[in-house]
Amino acid sequence: MKIIEFGKDGGSSKSTARDRPERMKILEFGDGVRGARPPSGSKIEVRPASTAPQAETKWEPVPAPASSAGLAAVPKTKASRSPFVGSRSLKMHVLDLGKLRLDKNFMVANSTVAMAKNPNPPGKLIDIPVSAYYIEHPDGNVLFDTGCHPDWAGPNGRWPQNLQDVFPVIGPDDCYLPHRLEAMGIGPNQIRHVVLSHLHCDHAGCIEFFRKSNIVVHEDEFAAAATHYAKRDHSTPYALRDVETWIRLDLNWREVGRAEPDRNLVDGVKLLNLGAGHSFGMLGMMVSLRDHANVILASDACYTAENYGPPMKPAGISYDSIGAARTIQRIRSMAEANHAEVWFGHDIPQFESLRKASEGWYE
Ligand SMILES: [Zn+2]
Ligand SMILES: [Zn+2]
Repeated sequence: MKIIEFGKDGGSSKSTARDRPERMKILEFGDGVRGARPPSGSKIEVRPASTAPQAETKWEPVPAPASSAGLAAVPKTKASRSPFVGSRSLKMHVLDLGKLRLDKNFMVANSTVAMAKNPNPPGKLIDIPVSAYYIEHPDGNVLFDTGCHPDWAGPNGRWPQNLQDVFPVIGPDDCYLPHRLEAMGIGPNQIRHVVLSHLHCDHAGCIEFFRKSNIVVHEDEFAAAATHYAKRDHSTPYALRDVETWIRLDLNWREVGRAEPDRNLVDGVKLLNLGAGHSFGMLGMMVSLRDHANVILASDACYTAENYGPPMKPAGISYDSIGAARTIQRIRSMAEANHAEVWFGHDIPQFESLRKASEGWYE
């Protein structure tokens, strides 16, 4: 793990490492354990299938950073590249992590259009589901996405005020990921891989609880979150106080490179490198099930069935709209080739129709 530290005064984002070499500090850790960078071209070892999960620990909250002003160290990450074959007996649990209340135009662009005969149409406020997927697997349990941080709200909340206003979370106190997994008797150390579809605040809010897991993220997404953090740019869906906490904890990041092919994370669970579209670097997952159609977890690469079409409809939030359209085409081709269902990121009727973890699972 290499940490580059700069701008210790927490001041201007114009202060770069090159401008102020005296402020740059590089730390190298090469102990071959957590967060270590392997020699170039080497493969990171994945524990064998027989490795028992580590003892369960409690869900430890992390105190919120005092402010985002003192943002300092940005860790660089490295990809894990170790596909391996194991058992295909897996169970997928659908976790209901509450809802976001927002204007429908964010989901489907131009849902509300003013016209001469209707110059001020009312906006449409909708409650969209927030979800995560827990896969019990003999070769290591996998979590796809983590929802919002429980302390997202308030003046000292993780989210900046603009996000709190535009996308408030609607849900009971127990709708957040730690509560949901705890109710299933699962501790954070029982999750081997935490796959982040991307790092927006409604998907990456609970990363910090998984201090022993591999945190799998697209390299371009990690770079984007780190860049917004370094610039103190609070205008995006990255919650910089969440980012600050990840950095302080030195988590066990595993990047997926831009050019890396799709590959099995564990047998029956394929990591999909979806690239730029909704955000800078999207990951999806395809899960092979014995008693159900295969499932593609699309996350925000496709918000809803309405976006999926055909015809496709663009989302209201897109980093790369052409990439987003291409990604939906690619997901459609994969779904057809693999007889897979596509589970969208925030589709209200589809999510209501799914069996939730409190009711059972998919296998
Ligand atoms: Zn998003
Ligand atoms: Zn989302």
